[in-house]
Amino acid sequence: MIVLLDNGHGSLINAVYQTPGKRKDWLDKGIIYEGEFNRAIVNGIIEELTFMKIPYVNIAPEYRDVRLQTRMNRANIYPKAKSFYLSVHSNAGGGHGSEMYTSPGDTKSDKIATIFGEEYKKEFPNRKLRTDFSDGDLDKEAKFHVLIKSKMPAILTESFFMDNFEEFNTILNTRAGRRQIINYHVKAIVRTKVEIFNEPMPTNFMP
Ligand SMILES: [Zn+2]
Repeated sequence: MIVLLDNGHGSLINAVYQTPGKRKDWLDKGIIYEGEFNRAIVNGIIEELTFMKIPYVNIAPEYRDVRLQTRMNRANIYPKAKSFYLSVHSNAGGGHGSEMYTSPGDTKSDKIATIFGEEYKKEFPNRKLRTDFSDGDLDKEAKFHVLIKSKMPAILTESFFMDNFEEFNTILNTRAGRRQIINYHVKAIVRTKVEIFNEPMPTNFMP
């Protein structure tokens, strides 16, 4: 199993954010750029996968905002049956908790998203989980290009809301909170490897 890791949007180049919008300025409490957060999470996942020797690809290692079509071109060279696409985001628009999205109609994606949801609930038992599987709200899914154009199973995680101050201040903008978000992704990746791809449990896995 190869994990195709997609850190949504661009990040900072010489302290200049590369993506319009996709940020929340909490003034004296700090500012969050979604693309920087997404990279922090993906980089943390990569550190753990490297330790466990689980193969992965960083789909967008650049700091600029790599186009979605480019991300798809990079992903779709990998075998459909041996890879899955994981797009990492944080939400905005008012709300709380986290959401797991899947590509429409792909049952393998739904199974993987269920695992991610379960590991999220173990890591954050007091936080809300919203899942949006293929038979549900197609409008909301349709905007996620990477879920529709990737040929392999694909899921997209929206971890908490940047524009919810409590979530920003206690989770998204803290080292401990980011570590928890990395943890639920890593545990879900290991379970996906074992339960969906029927591969052995990696050595070095320390739950
Ligand atoms: Zn995003």
